Amino acid sequence: MVDPGLFGVYVHVPFCRTRCHYCDFVTYTGMEGLRRPYAAALLEEAATAAAALGPEPPLVTSVFVGGGTPTVLSPEDLARLLARLRELLPFADGAEVTVEANPETVEPAMAEGLAGAGVTRVSMGAQSFDDRVLAGLGRAHDAARVAAAVATLRAAGVPALNLDLIYGGPGEDAGSWSATLETALALGPEHLSAYALTIEPATKFGRLVATGRMAEPGEDDLADRYEAACSALAAAGYHHYEVSNWARATHASLHNLTYWRRGRYLGLGAGAHEFDGATRRWNVDGVPAYLAAVGEGRRPTAGEERLDGEQARFEALALRLRTVDGLDPGEARSLGVDPGGSQATELRLAGLIGPGPGLRLTGKGMFLHGEVVARLA
Ligand code: SF4
Repeated sequence: MVDPGLFGVYVHVPFCRTRCHYCDFVTYTGMEGLRRPYAAALLEEAATAAAALGPEPPLVTSVFVGGGTPTVLSPEDLARLLARLRELLPFADGAEVTVEANPETVEPAMAEGLAGAGVTRVSMGAQSFDDRVLAGLGRAHDAARVAAAVATLRAAGVPALNLDLIYGGPGEDAGSWSATLETALALGPEHLSAYALTIEPATKFGRLVATGRMAEPGEDDLADRYEAACSALAAAGYHHYEVSNWARATHASLHNLTYWRRGRYLGLGAGAHEFDGATRRWNVDGVPAYLAAVGEGRRPTAGEERLDGEQARFEALALRLRTVDGLDPGEARSLGVDPGGSQATELRLAGLIGPGPGLRLTGKGMFLHGEVVARLA
């Protein structure tokens, strides 16, 4: 089950000023001298990837420049990248163009550069509005800097903003999380994402937990925080359209929907993944290896896999159930799940799947998404 109407371009910028304590993304601190060559290499890789799509490439419905912190590149380099993509590929009317940013990198020149380059939304890592929690997470900014960055982006005319939040961080309690939600809402973002802190082994937190110097966030606390987010955001008029995402009308992220609906997407940059509807391929993680491959005129492929029927079925089931649209009865059956079968009925009785003939998770079901999918699969 692949959505043929969606075609995204993901561009990865693997640079950050400092590394947050929970982060296991492909990103590097330092490397200032490689940033401009990297931005130039992205243009080259984009040309190679576009040529491989043939004379009639699909219309681009979304671009997402993520990281890392894309806004450590100069506004000129980011504008050149977006302009080059528009030269190489046809864009759909109203295509969504998102750039991720961190608050400490948002100066007026950057905000104006993004707005002038046709960026339709900026997704900012706010994470918390409690300075103690931000320090505990190893973030490079305080809460006031987030509010200042929002004001700067608004003043420059960036049409829509997302704020990313994390719950379950060290030092956070129910009161601090409620205050974070309140402050985030007062800034009026069009979109909000809230993710539970996960402890990855190859991070500072992973090492602290492994050596008994830090406790993992408790499941009950995480469930309470999630519920608090669901209530506060619903009360403020945000639509809970995916497990971790809320939006005001028309502001759901088209790019993320492309992933959840198994649309196709190109992946450019070190560590980027792409999917052509059948095969997933991904690039090398390291910046020097990336630059060397692009310098030789080839895609810097590190690996690829073609999903077999069973893997594709499971993936479609898991991804589609993440969104509020879920699966209608015919779609559920095409993925081998009987929407009126005993498992679905039990999950309905437990309040994890909503009423109706199809499969749509409730708020409680969304929090337990992995469990629900395992039972249905
Ligand atoms: S800003 Fe984002 S990508 Fe960079 S280190 Fe922090 S969590 Fe990782």
